[in-house]
Amino acid sequence: MKILVAEDNDIFRLLMGTILFEAGHEVVAAPDGTQAWERLGSENVDMCIFDVDMPGMTGIEVLKRLRADNRFRGLPVIMLTVKALVEDQLSGYDTGADDYIPKPVSAELLLARVQALGRKAGKGAP
Ligand SMILES: [Mg+2]
Repeated sequence: MKILVAEDNDIFRLLMGTILFEAGHEVVAAPDGTQAWERLGSENVDMCIFDVDMPGMTGIEVLKRLRADNRFRGLPVIMLTVKALVEDQLSGYDTGADDYIPKPVSAELLLARVQALGRKAGKGAP
């Protein structure tokens, strides 16, 4: 799959990109919400992984825009949060997140969630 990873932490973004790439996925990376939104418009991605806490446009704000835009109907979105707070998770689901992963993310968990959600969305693997 072609997966958009938006994460403002450089090390964490690189790590997730590497994990996904080594599992056979194509990775489009963005260091903040604004660039993630731009990439969404220019790249035809199969799935998104958004960090909740990013400067400028947060992951939740990108998700809200995405869900309000018919171009991205049915696009699977996984949210990441270091806090793993219930309020964060609830606001994510209210906004239309398909899944949530608490940080720090294990490679196995990340790939399992991505593959499960991809299957559900009929995207196939990888
Ligand atoms: Mg962050």
